[in-house]
Amino acid sequence: MILVKTAEEIELMRESALIVSKTLGMLAKEVKPGVTTLELDALAETCIRDHGAVPGFLGLYDFPNSLCMSPNAQVVHGIPNNTPLVEGDIISIDCGALKNDFYGDHAYTFEVGEVAPETKKLLDVTKASLYAGIREFKKGNRVGDVGYAIQKYTEDHGYGVVRELVGHGLGRKMHEDPEMPNYGKRGRGKKFVEGMVVAIEPMINLGTRRIKQLNDGWTILTADGKPSAHFEHNVALVNGKPELLSTFKYVYEALGIKSDEEDEFRGKG
Ligand code: MG
Ligand code: MG
Repeated sequence: MILVKTAEEIELMRESALIVSKTLGMLAKEVKPGVTTLELDALAETCIRDHGAVPGFLGLYDFPNSLCMSPNAQVVHGIPNNTPLVEGDIISIDCGALKNDFYGDHAYTFEVGEVAPETKKLLDVTKASLYAGIREFKKGNRVGDVGYAIQKYTEDHGYGVVRELVGHGLGRKMHEDPEMPNYGKRGRGKKFVEGMVVAIEPMINLGTRRIKQLNDGWTILTADGKPSAHFEHNVALVNGKPELLSTFKYVYEALGIKSDEEDEFRGKG
C-alpha cells in the first residue's frame, strides 16, 4: 500500500533528507587516500546525531554501522572496515537518518583522487540516469516509466543494470511501497499519486549486471569484479511534479563543483 504524505510530513522528510545531504557534504571533504571507511562511518554518525537525528541504517535489519560503504566492485551494502581507501578507488556512500519519525536515505559515489576515465564515465552516466528517472516521477506516470528511463539511458552506454536491488517508497519506514526498479516498461506498474515520496537509486555496473553476495550476508558486488556506481535521491510528488528533498549541493560545495542539475526539481525547497 502506498502511503501518501501531507505537506507537513513532506517538510519533515525534507529535514531528514537534508541531514543526510549535509552528512554526505561533510564526508566529501574526508574521502581521500589513506582514510578508512570505519573512520568515515564514525564521522557520519557524529554528524547525524549532532543534527538531532539517529543513523537510519544502524541496527536496521541488524546492519552493524551508520553507513553502507561500497568501494569499487561492491554495488551496495558494504560494511565499513579498517582498509584504507587508495588513489583511484571509487566509494559509494549510502547514508540514512531518522528524525521526527521520518527517514532520509540517499547516496553518492565519490572518487578517491584520480580515477580511470572509464570509471569516471560510469559515475557521470549513472548520476545522469538518476535524473532521467526522477524526470519521469510525475503525475500520470507509473513505476515502469522511471525504470524504463534509467535502464534505457544506462544500457545505451553498454552498462549493466542491477535487477535484484531497487529503489523504494520512503517515510516512517525506510522501505515502503512501491518498489522502484531501475529497469522496466513504459506505462507499467503502480501509478504515481500526489504526496508520494520515493527513493530513486540506480545501481549501475560497468560490465555485467550480474551480482554476487559476500558471505558476510550483506555486501553485494559485481560478478565480474568491474566497478559499480550508485546515486540516490529522495523525491516527493508535489503539484504533479518531482521535487527533490535531498540535494548534492553540499557535496558539490565541498568539492568545488558547479552544477545546475537539480534546478529543474527544486520546488520551494
Ligand atoms: Mg540508500
Ligand atoms: Mg534507498
